[in-house]
Amino acid sequence: MITAQQIIDRGVCPHLDGEICHDCRLDPSQLSYSMGDMADLCHDTQVAIFNWCGCEDGDPQYDDCPTGDK
Ligand SMILES: [Zn+2]
Ligand SMILES: [Zn+2]
Repeated sequence: MITAQQIIDRGVCPHLDGEICHDCRLDPSQLSYSMGDMADLCHDTQVAIFNWCGCEDGDPQYDDCPTGDK
């Protein structure tokens, strides 16, 4: 199972060429991720990177999304 850190490590900063800028280090949701890396996400890693998951809006996207009434 892939961790959020592994996905973040493969992220590409859209602001600097070949480096990760300060903003992206603080906020990995700003990094650009490949489609393949996006496909590796699960609820936990999505929340770790983006601080948000579709299930919060009633649209669960991953098998491990919490379900049920809030
Ligand atoms: Zn950046
Ligand atoms: Zn979710």
